[in-house]
Amino acid sequence: MLKQLKKNVDAVQARIAEAAARSSRTVADITLVGVTKYVDVETTRSLHESGCVNLGENRPQVVWEKSSALHELPIQWHMIGHLQRNKVKRTVECCELIHSVDSHRLLTAIDEAAADQDKTCRVLLEVNVSGESAKHGFSKSEIPAALEFVSGLSNIKVEGLMCMAGLIGDADDARREFAMLRTIKEEFESDSPANVELRELSMGMSGDFEIAIAEGATLVRVGSLLFEGV
Ligand SMILES: *Cc1c(COP(=O)(O)O)cnc(C)c1O
Repeated sequence: MLKQLKKNVDAVQARIAEAAARSSRTVADITLVGVTKYVDVETTRSLHESGCVNLGENRPQVVWEKSSALHELPIQWHMIGHLQRNKVKRTVECCELIHSVDSHRLLTAIDEAAADQDKTCRVLLEVNVSGESAKHGFSKSEIPAALEFVSGLSNIKVEGLMCMAGLIGDADDARREFAMLRTIKEEFESDSPANVELRELSMGMSGDFEIAIAEGATLVRVGSLLFEGV
């Protein structure tokens, strides 16, 4: 299993490097977040051993369990799925970055939990770029108010934006949605409050991470490709 995992991680890293080169980007500016929601604690441990340091989970309880079971390893945990306010405290405790912040109420809850824990929580704002009503995230028109709201929170740092491409679209739709996220970042990055620094773009999964890199992704969230044949 370890051998196959290592092979998969190397193959994905090589594809990231090629996609970066095609867009004249530096590969060091792109971080692979290995999404471990498909596998158990031991396979997650093996993925880390295979060279994947940044790991993502979409369910709060699972990230609590795995981060606790693997606490001796220098894993950087990313929360990438919908987060309810009653699950914020433990998630803030164990995650380096919360990608999926989609409401003022959640921002407030994270700020309060971070203040209690004497830390600053790094987050991304999720943007609903596909316009699909089933998707979470701020619409583009809600971003100015969200950034204004963040300026009043002292234990939050917004480091960028995150999106999921629409479920029903094709590669062209995905490209358009990723480009939209980049455009929103560019529009607001120069004129944002002190605790907002829009430099990260979390976008792209197994099926479309190369398109996302062409459009400026700095964090790609890849799951299923890493576990093929494992
Ligand atoms: C599952 C998941 C991914 C990874 O998807 P794959 O297609 O398996 O690479 C990325 N982001 C989020 C939010 C997810 O839930």
